[in-house]
Amino acid sequence: MLVVRGAIKDYDWGMVDGLEAWSGRSTGGPQAELWFGVHPGGPSPLVDIGGELTGEHLADHFDIEAIPLLVKLLAAARPLSVQVHPPRLVAESGWQAQQEPGAEPVYSDPFEKTEMLVALESFEAFAGWRSADEAAAILEGLDLSAESLAALREGDRAAAIPLILGQATPERVARLADAAASAGLPDPQVAAYATVADNYPGDPGALLTPLLAYLRLEAGQAVYVPAGVPHSYIRGIGLEVMTSSDNVVRLGLTSKPVFVDHAIAALADDLAPQVMPTSHGDLIWPRNAPFVVRVISSGQERVPSGAYRILLLIEGTARVTSEFGEISLRPGTAAVISADDPDSVIEADGLVAVVQSTARQTETRYGGDPDEH
Ligand SMILES: [Zn+2]
Repeated sequence: MLVVRGAIKDYDWGMVDGLEAWSGRSTGGPQAELWFGVHPGGPSPLVDIGGELTGEHLADHFDIEAIPLLVKLLAAARPLSVQVHPPRLVAESGWQAQQEPGAEPVYSDPFEKTEMLVALESFEAFAGWRSADEAAAILEGLDLSAESLAALREGDRAAAIPLILGQATPERVARLADAAASAGLPDPQVAAYATVADNYPGDPGALLTPLLAYLRLEAGQAVYVPAGVPHSYIRGIGLEVMTSSDNVVRLGLTSKPVFVDHAIAALADDLAPQVMPTSHGDLIWPRNAPFVVRVISSGQERVPSGAYRILLLIEGTARVTSEFGEISLRPGTAAVISADDPDSVIEADGLVAVVQSTARQTETRYGGDPDEH
């Protein structure tokens, strides 16, 4: 068992000092994400029993095969990009193709990214598709071409997306909230579109947000977003659990590169997000997810050997005990328990996220050279 802190990310959409309770410091700037895992994009530093950095990282001890999950705390002050995470085959072939000299760097690694967000306070997001008729009703208010609306109504989003982007102007983006109101959307959704327009006035991708379903999670509720499902988180503080990948293909609402063709190729039209109407203490186990999460508020829980787990203290205090001894966690630190570690017990007085991998070791989707499989 090892103890880690999160690796901080200061992306521009983060809340100013939004993660201070967990990062342990004020930076006076955006604190967007804290990463707990071995992904090279943000390797978590190890801390000793007194909470001091040891100079080592979790990745010095384990590779991605042993630590197949990446856990994050996220504080969004404004909308994140409209994005799609590539399914396994798309990630593998895309990664392979970009190894050619001169190829555009679209993929961060060859792995599928499937993710779940658990709200720690109320959290707003766009995830999955809004009904085509409702999306068309909003876009009709922006006077988009009949061709683009027809493609949308026929359910051909792959055709509709480039047509819509081609008609994006700052003037149309500015009218987004009015169009949402005219289409009869409830006030919180109209406000979400106003937020999009205010933050991304010149971004063509703003006109794709009407295609996405709006949802609001209360603390303890979760949304599972399989690879291939488009989404854009709007605002809030949450816990994110994902396969250990940083593959994000963006369609808009970003200063980073946008790859419309790659994003369309990554869409899985047969999949939808799963909203889990859970609350703290419930087991959150979406269908087909490679992980299961429980946010426990107090009491004792046995943590049996045999699976990778990360126990992240969100608030209060917690102790983890095994035959090797006992460690205390402070908020923003996590106990990392590999599949080979012995049974342990967690005792909490506060909120602890217990995240467990359910991927079988034989499904080598996370590791190695794609050619080997
Ligand atoms: Zn995402």
